[in-house]
Amino acid sequence: MNLRDDARALSDDLIRMRHDLHRTPEVGLDLPRTQERVLAALDGLPLEISTGEGLSSVTAVLRGARPGGPTVLLRGDMDALPVAERTGLPYAAEGDLMHACGHDLHTTMLAGSARLLATHRDRLAGDVVFMFQPGEEGWDGAGHMLAEGVLDASGTRPVAAYALHVSSSIHASGVFATRTGPLLAASNVLDVTVRGAGGHGSAPHRAKDPIPAACEMVTALQTWLSRAFDVFDPVVLTVGSFHAGTLPNIIPDTARFTATVRSFSPEAFERLREGLPAVCRGVAAAHGLEVDAEFIEQYPTTVNDAAEADFIAETVREVHGEERYEPMENPILGAEDFSRVIAEVPGAMAFLGATLPDRDPETAPSNHSPLAAFDDAVLADGSALYAELAVRRLEAEAVTA
Ligand SMILES: [Zn+2]
Repeated sequence: MNLRDDARALSDDLIRMRHDLHRTPEVGLDLPRTQERVLAALDGLPLEISTGEGLSSVTAVLRGARPGGPTVLLRGDMDALPVAERTGLPYAAEGDLMHACGHDLHTTMLAGSARLLATHRDRLAGDVVFMFQPGEEGWDGAGHMLAEGVLDASGTRPVAAYALHVSSSIHASGVFATRTGPLLAASNVLDVTVRGAGGHGSAPHRAKDPIPAACEMVTALQTWLSRAFDVFDPVVLTVGSFHAGTLPNIIPDTARFTATVRSFSPEAFERLREGLPAVCRGVAAAHGLEVDAEFIEQYPTTVNDAAEADFIAETVREVHGEERYEPMENPILGAEDFSRVIAEVPGAMAFLGATLPDRDPETAPSNHSPLAAFDDAVLADGSALYAELAVRRLEAEAVTA
């Protein structure tokens, strides 16, 4: 079986599906039109399909030729972003939403792999679970699908789980990249409200001004980060919102800021969880103010299983050629809820460069930009890689079992 050639024969269909999804982006956990489009793409294939209860997910199970065989899970996320597209492409979305992170490509490639594997199911040494997931962009869609039982969809826990993520910059079109160990950071939020007592701007001694204390917290947090953490275990904190007051001569009652907090190791996570609110409480106490400082957990670190990441690299090299694989020296500080899946079962995620051929990967607009654009040419090879990973991993498992 040559999945790569079969996938290329599907290319026109894949491009059509992707453009259709791209024109009608949906955000969050409820993506009714996207779900409909996925169900239409899977229609007629020999799949056991179920849809989510609390979210518009699609879980499809393909039974291989050997009953009772192992299971591999393939995941593609489906949600868009609240970004107004400015690419000027003929299939650009109108309105305030955009597939600026390329999840329309993931959805399409996963559907493509289902079609490829259905054609070759007689050669599958086990079952494949296709996980079409809404709500990756901060909605914890993966967590919801895990709670609804996606890992038990085939009746046996997956021996491995894989996901691809396209990139509109950094990697040239068609280049796959991954690494063993941490691939993406843990992403959490610090939410701080400093409580003072408002008054007239001319008489601060009669009020309790929350603004200087909140400003001090912002700098104290950065200083603390630089003193309390091993430099070889990176942490990043960015205060992305800061709000207080209305007019120059009014001292407000409260000041509020929120920060995104990125880290990798469990030790750093624990120290941040305890330490960040403690720094804010200490500064507030020095000013005689109250503070609510809450550390809100979002996504854990995405840690690739070493053997599964090596297996992706080896599969890319064998199927698509040596030059199509690029090892990543460092992780990146973005985050993913696929982290939850591969915290439960062994697995790995890889990036797939989709920079437009006429753009420089170094300077091309990145994912989440209103100008981000993705090369359709990767759809066939991405579909083929998903399919190859399932075929080869099931075969390997069957041989060792
Ligand atoms: Zn994404």
